[in-house]
Amino acid sequence: MVEKFDCIVVGAGMSGNAAAYTLAKRGLKVLQLERGEYSGSKNVQGAILYADMLEKIIPDFREDAPLERHLIEQRFWMMSENAHTGMHYRSDVFNEAQPNRYTIIRSQFDKWFSRRVREAGALVLTETTVLELIFDAYGACVGVRTDREAGVVHADVVVLAEGVNGLLGTRAALRPAPKADTVALAVKEMHFLPQETIEARFNVTGDEGVVIEAAGAISQGMTGMGFIYTNRECLSVGIGCLVGDFAKSGVTPYSLLDQFKQHPSVKPLLEGSEVKEYSAHLIPEGGYKHVPQLCGDGWVVVGDAAQLNNAIHREGSNLAMTSGRIAAEAIFQIKSRREKPTKANLSMYPKMLEDSFVIKDLKKYRDMPALLHANSQNFFLTYPELVSKAMESFLRVDGTPKRDKERATFSAFRKARGWSGLVGDAYKLARAWR
Ligand SMILES: Cc1cc2nc3c(=O)[nH]c(=O)nc-3n(C[C@H](O)[C@H](O)[C@H](O)COP(=O)(O)OP(=O)(O)OC[C@H]3O[C@@H](n4cnc5c(N)ncnc54)[C@H](O)[C@@H]3O)c2cc1C
Repeated sequence: MVEKFDCIVVGAGMSGNAAAYTLAKRGLKVLQLERGEYSGSKNVQGAILYADMLEKIIPDFREDAPLERHLIEQRFWMMSENAHTGMHYRSDVFNEAQPNRYTIIRSQFDKWFSRRVREAGALVLTETTVLELIFDAYGACVGVRTDREAGVVHADVVVLAEGVNGLLGTRAALRPAPKADTVALAVKEMHFLPQETIEARFNVTGDEGVVIEAAGAISQGMTGMGFIYTNRECLSVGIGCLVGDFAKSGVTPYSLLDQFKQHPSVKPLLEGSEVKEYSAHLIPEGGYKHVPQLCGDGWVVVGDAAQLNNAIHREGSNLAMTSGRIAAEAIFQIKSRREKPTKANLSMYPKMLEDSFVIKDLKKYRDMPALLHANSQNFFLTYPELVSKAMESFLRVDGTPKRDKERATFSAFRKARGWSGLVGDAYKLARAWR
C-alpha cells in the first residue's frame, strides 16, 4: 500500500524547512525528503540570516538557534587593482535586544531548523533523493518517486523546495532549466582565526560582527561580487560571478577567489588563518523576469527553485523562508476549507507573494540583472578604476593645483566613456533602479 500525506516537501534548506515547519505546526501530515546526509549538509550560504523572516516562523528562535555574530557594521568596497574606495556604515542601534541580522553557518543552522521541523510533527527523511514527480491522468501532481526501495509516496500537494538547480521541476517541464546568464557560481572558504584576532581586526567586541561586500576589479570585468563575513571564530570569504561570464572569460572560480584573497585590502584581514572548508554553489540571479510559474495542480515551487533571489541586495534565504511560509499558509487555508489543491486554488500562494516584499523587491530591480550583465566591463572594471584614480589624485598632495587635478579627473572619465556614454550609463542605471 502506498502511504499518503497531506503534503510532501522536497528539500530541507531554508525554504523547505520553513514550509515543512509551518505545515506541521498547523497539524498537517507532512513528509519532508532531503537527499543530503542531514539538513544543511548540501547547503552553501555566505551567510547572513535576516531575523525578521525567521521570527515570523519561529518567534523564539534566538533562544536556541546557532547564531554567530549580530551585524553592526556594513562595508561596501569598490575595488580597483590595488585599492578600494569604501562606504562604511556602523551603528550602535544594531546592538539592539533583538538584532536584525546575524551571521550563521548553514550546516549548523539547518540542523537546528530541521530539529524544530521534527518537533513540530513532520516526518523528515534524509539520505532520500526524490527522482521524479508523479502525475495522474489529468496532469495533477499526486506524489513522488524516491530512490528508496518501494519508494513511491503520495500526497495532496508537493512543495518543490529543491534549490537552484531545480532538476525535478525541470524534468517534469514545470519550468525551464536555469541559464548560464541567470545563475552565478559562488565559491567560498572558511578561514579560522582566534576569536580575539577577529575582534581586533574588525574592531568589534562580544558578538558584534561586520560584513564586507566588494565589487570591481576583483571580478576581472565579469558581473560578480566578493564578500567577507565575520563569524565567531572564522571568516566566510567568497566570490561569485555569472556562469556565462566564467564560460566566456575562461577564468576559473578558484583562481578568482585566490586573487581576491591576495588583494592588498583583503590579505591583511586573512593573515595567519587556517582554511578548513571550501564549497561552491549556484545562486539564481535572473531577477523577476526569470521567476517561473509558481504553482500548478497539486504542486507549488518555493525559494531558489523558483528563482526567488535578490542579487542586488544579496538576499536569498529570507525570500526562501518567506516563500516557504506563505506557500504553506496557502496550502493550509485550502485544506481547512476542504477544497482541492488545484492550480486555481493554489494560486492564492503567488497572490500572497505578490503582496509581500519578495515580489515587490524583485520587481523594483526588474531590469538591473540584465543591465549589469550587458555592461559588466564598464560597471565592474572601468568605473571602479576611474573612481580609485580620482581618489588617489584628490588625496595626494604634490603641488598640482586642485583645479588641474579636477580637470584631469573629468577628462579621464570623459575619455573612458565619452559624455554620451556617461549620461547613458547614469540614465540606464536610474531606469533599472526604479
Ligand atoms: C555563496 C553563497 C552566499 C550566499 N549568501 C547569502 C546570504 O548571506 N544571505 C542570504 O539570505 N542568502 C544568501 N545566499 C542565498 C541562499 O543561500 C539561498 O537563497 C537559500 O539557501 C535558498 O534556500 P532553498 O531552501 O530554496 O534552497 P537550498 O538551501 O539550496 O536547499 C535545497 C535543498 O533541497 C535538497 N534537494 C535538492 N534536490 C533534491 C531531491 N531531488 N531530493 C531530495 N532533496 C533534494 C538539497 O540537498 C538542499 O538541501 C547565498 C548563496 C550562496 C551560494
